[in-house]
Amino acid sequence: MAQHPLLTKLIPCRSDNYAVLAHDPEENVTLLVDAPEATAIRQALEETGWSLTHILVTHHHFDHVDGLDDIKQASGAHVIGPALSLDKIPSIDQGVADGDEIRFGGQKIYCLATPGHTLDHISYWLPEAELAFTGDTLFAMGCGRVFEGTLRDMWFSVDKLAKLPAETTVFCGHEYTQANGDFCLTIEPDNQALQQRVEEIKALRQKGLPTIPTTILDELSTNSFVRAHEGEVKEALGMAEAEDWEVFAEIRKRKDNA
Ligand code: ZN
Ligand code: FE
Repeated sequence: MAQHPLLTKLIPCRSDNYAVLAHDPEENVTLLVDAPEATAIRQALEETGWSLTHILVTHHHFDHVDGLDDIKQASGAHVIGPALSLDKIPSIDQGVADGDEIRFGGQKIYCLATPGHTLDHISYWLPEAELAFTGDTLFAMGCGRVFEGTLRDMWFSVDKLAKLPAETTVFCGHEYTQANGDFCLTIEPDNQALQQRVEEIKALRQKGLPTIPTTILDELSTNSFVRAHEGEVKEALGMAEAEDWEVFAEIRKRKDNA
């Protein structure tokens, strides 16, 4: 059980984006992670009755900040985001970089630089709530496409998140889980945990339900990107002697061409 648990609400936005609210009833503070679209977020705030105090931005892509100005204006919330993108995201009140800590009510939010998908990408970790927000870096059974950084950068970012405590609940930026799982099966067809999870995900999606959040524990056993350092994954790819990041790079390239 988390030392300082939060209530969460996942908000489906656009075609496959997620925003998320996390609320601390004791301290009466609420954070939003990313603002893909204002309407869905405003509706979620009305439904919950939570009043927004903090907004965390993971990276500068349009599908994560399109509703930001709107929500900031309506709520007056304090906007925290990558210091590297202050020019691209003028609504940021507080620019953050790797290792920075932010107070959220009675607990701390740690800022983790996770470059690769974009150079500015920040993931957020709340150890006392056992929560992490990984944006477009770590997905359920996947990871983001590498647009701005190198494949090597992305491996270290994904691996950094994989090393958070196993019980950490992880919210990411997109519902890509089913396609990701099908792809991981092409890398690790004999992975039983993966086979089982793909079935569970299929059942959820057939009912139109989200597959998010995930946990670090589940990613360690089923996410082939996270597992690039495992001997069995290296061997399956004929790369037993390769560096971890090279194996990751091979998996990422295969996914890009899938
Ligand atoms: Zn993105
Ligand atoms: Fe995105």
